[in-house]
Amino acid sequence: MTLTQFNTDDTRWNAVCNNSSDADGLFYYAVITTGIYCRPSCRSKLPNRDNVEYFISCNDAEAAGYRACKRCKPTALSKVKEIEQKIIDACRIIEQSETSIKLEKLATQVHLSPYHFHRLFKKIVGITPKQYGSRHQSRRFQTNLTTSASITDAIYSSGYGSSGSAYDKKRDQLAMKPKVYRSGADGVTITYGLAQCSFGWVIVAATDRGICAIELGDDAKTLPGQVQARFPNAQLNKADMGFKTLIEEVVEFIESPKDTFHLPLDIQGTAFQQQVWEVLRQIKPGETLSYTEVAERMGKPKAVRAVASACAVNKLAVVIPCHRVISKAGKTGEYRWGSKRKKMLLESEQDPVE
Ligand SMILES: [Zn+2]
Repeated sequence: MTLTQFNTDDTRWNAVCNNSSDADGLFYYAVITTGIYCRPSCRSKLPNRDNVEYFISCNDAEAAGYRACKRCKPTALSKVKEIEQKIIDACRIIEQSETSIKLEKLATQVHLSPYHFHRLFKKIVGITPKQYGSRHQSRRFQTNLTTSASITDAIYSSGYGSSGSAYDKKRDQLAMKPKVYRSGADGVTITYGLAQCSFGWVIVAATDRGICAIELGDDAKTLPGQVQARFPNAQLNKADMGFKTLIEEVVEFIESPKDTFHLPLDIQGTAFQQQVWEVLRQIKPGETLSYTEVAERMGKPKAVRAVASACAVNKLAVVIPCHRVISKAGKTGEYRWGSKRKKMLLESEQDPVE
């Protein structure tokens, strides 16, 4: 149904004769002799065609001196329009909310049953309310990224939560979709910035969902290539000044790690890898575990080699502290970003700055 329908005298008269509810909301007819205007679907007696005039809106009809019919109540929205309006209202509620809203709550606010609401929303908008919410949030985040003074501001003002715990709950829904990740991050834009720290150069790379890579190296020039290798099909862009605060926060964390890192992370990996990394994040600065101990903590004591492999493919240096996992004999062991650097990191954590 489009607005160009029922735009001629003939099609309109035809709709009135047929009590066509399809035309409801698209025009109104008024009867000169009674001074009353109706919806096309009104069941009242068919007037003489010569006495009928048409209006696009109730306001126009009333401005011309007509009163609303008490039978068909033209000022009440048509069923279709009414439902569309409810869905539009729901979209506005989602857009204005800082956090995600439960389906039941949204449905109640627009006076529809959750089931009916979900179906109508998907039919009219094309995606589910939940998808609409997360797309809106990620779009808001991207918009904020270009207008906010810092990415931290962007993250906070996008409703991603200002604390690690609030963020943790949402992590799954925020992370890059595994399918996208497996495709080499095809269609994903990654922004990166570089800085120097005590352990060499650091690159911080982020998608619109969070930090997806932190890597260390001796040479700033080779670092973007390392990130690109992790996400072969992603579009890599060097950040502007808006990234400065984010990089500073990461550098500060690397220099003196705290127990928790508060910025959103776009963590990608298999379920097993994510489980390993979660255990690593529990190891406090100054502590170390062996690969065997990590495997034991996971309740999978035999998975020592798999644990070592998961550590080796970690993309978030220091934030996921794979450097705190050492070989059983007490040796520092291997490190993706160089065993010398691992030793330096561990030594610096032995002697925390007061
Ligand atoms: Zn009527």
